[in-house]
Amino acid sequence: MTLFRLDGKRALVTGGSRGIGLAAAHDLIRLGARVTLAARHEDTLKTAANAIGAQWVVADVSTPEGVAAAVTKAGDVDILVSNAGGPPPGKPSEVSEAAWQAGYDTTFLSAVRLANAVLPGMRQRQWGRIIAITSLTVGRPAPTLPVSNAMRAAVTNYLKTLALEVAPDGVTCNTVAPGYTATDRLKALHDNPADTDKLIARIPARRFGQPNEVAAAVAFLATVEAAYMTGQELLVDGGWSI
Ligand code: NAD
Repeated sequence: MTLFRLDGKRALVTGGSRGIGLAAAHDLIRLGARVTLAARHEDTLKTAANAIGAQWVVADVSTPEGVAAAVTKAGDVDILVSNAGGPPPGKPSEVSEAAWQAGYDTTFLSAVRLANAVLPGMRQRQWGRIIAITSLTVGRPAPTLPVSNAMRAAVTNYLKTLALEVAPDGVTCNTVAPGYTATDRLKALHDNPADTDKLIARIPARRFGQPNEVAAAVAFLATVEAAYMTGQELLVDGGWSI
């Protein structure tokens, strides 16, 4: 038997135009899945989708309409990878209500709405994989990422709770928590070379992770072979959390 194939499965990857989402989508395609990428900007999304052989749909998953558009385009979703851009940094005591709301809509509520939209079909087919990208900051809060710290913890516990409900239906729910991974988001958050060197010195692996290294964990959780793994948080962080 060939291990880790996803032939015939359909996947939806949100925030899929670059970085970790795009790398995860590429791995799922290599394993045989038909993948739809959802993101907000048509030009980058179309280029990324064409490069890996995915379908694409312009959708802002912080809104109910965006979630509906993404799920409609993807068809019967067997594998959901919930991954939308991380909230901006700030001082915890100075985050505005608007920024909390934006973080809630984009990071937390998008994961809930997407899961609710794909679950009926997964339950009917008695097979499904719901995977959310979170962060090593769950349980290890980064001092300058208050919204991200809070919302990713919420996503983690929401999916653990959902995992309990849907386990009898053959649906698993897990999170992949990246450490410092070399993407545009990381470059935007850490643009000072001296700070970057200090940060790398604190990572046991002494380097940033690569998007494909996070993607591999996502792809594994999507497989048939990962059927008995649910409600878990898989850290891909070069040893940071040890
Ligand atoms: P990135 O900023 O490079 O890519 C984010 C993607 O999300 C883009 O495709 C963007 O268009 C899309 N996006 C943003 N808001 C969206 C919305 N409302 N609707 C649809 N698409 C939207 O990010 P990345 O570094 O690849 O990170 C992916 C996820 O992993 C993010 O949630 C990020 O916070 C998290 N993460 C990243 C790191 C890291 O070091 N890179 C570490 C921990 C967690």
